[in-house]
Amino acid sequence: MIALLGLLVALQDADDPRKEFETRAAATAANDAEARFALAEFAAKHKLWDLALPTLEKVLEASPDHKAARERLGYKRAGKEWKRDDVQGRLWRVRAAVAAGVAFPARAELDTWRRKGPSYVKAIDLVLDLDHYVAAALAVDERTGLFEGSLALKVVFEAAEGKNVPATGWGKAGKGQIDIDVKKLADYNDVIAKYDRDKRAGAEVVVPPARPEGILVHELTHCFQGGDNAGMPAWFIEGMATWCAQDGHYVAFFRHQGQTVKAITDGVREHKYVYARGWAFFEYADDKHGRDKTRAWIDAVVRKARRVDEAAAEAFGLTWDELVKEEQAWSAQWVKRYRVKP
Ligand SMILES: [Zn+2]
Repeated sequence: MIALLGLLVALQDADDPRKEFETRAAATAANDAEARFALAEFAAKHKLWDLALPTLEKVLEASPDHKAARERLGYKRAGKEWKRDDVQGRLWRVRAAVAAGVAFPARAELDTWRRKGPSYVKAIDLVLDLDHYVAAALAVDERTGLFEGSLALKVVFEAAEGKNVPATGWGKAGKGQIDIDVKKLADYNDVIAKYDRDKRAGAEVVVPPARPEGILVHELTHCFQGGDNAGMPAWFIEGMATWCAQDGHYVAFFRHQGQTVKAITDGVREHKYVYARGWAFFEYADDKHGRDKTRAWIDAVVRKARRVDEAAAEAFGLTWDELVKEEQAWSAQWVKRYRVKP
């Protein structure tokens, strides 16, 4: 009876890795480096990076030269010392923030959607895959500098009535919400499947569809843009999100529709062109003035609620008129030569 009870508990725990981790952690001695390491591996396997990171650090407390734990955390031997690779270290910090800070709809709700068919299963799996949020947070961090080390993100399934978008995101400093229209995302998977079939059959596809994982990067960027600045133009908001996602679909679409790069001050008449046009501005800023100045500009606008034009003039050291001219010429070339990755 007791054994059977034990089995039942184990079965339930296997369903909830976070709970199973707690059970295993309670049974692990603090100074048992190998057992701690196995625990960290269990957490990492289930993408519970917020638990894996401190557990790996505890392995090193018990056994400072534990090679596998050091390697997981991105350390390399440098003589007698261990040196940490910044890129790996940052990856772990972002992973921990994602594992601790992204909340999804309850299991029952997910299962209801999954039962609607394979396109839905694919859509749900995409939305639940924490690796996409890690990639998204890394992109936002690298490009904008707006990531502050933590996330508090709610992913909600909601139909976007009257809007032709599969997802909408908003928030401030990584605290926010991403609404997913599961039906639209599932339908979109069918579009992509058809595109893949056509391509394999040798058809020439001029405008590839937007990548669904790029949608998550795009919406996550919006979760960092909110705040006190109500005066941000659409090209700035959408351009930054599209720049972070780097999805060539938007440039291909812009070109295919015969659009030309006009001065950014002329405005973009139709919203559907604002993505590529705004993206070009960020590429220009990054290429011509460098990442540090581009981040300083973003910081001034998003965090300090400065005007986009004034902050750009200050960050890039040109008058706004000079910037507008230079950017238009640069971006016209960029849009022309940009190569969409297949
Ligand atoms: Zn957007």
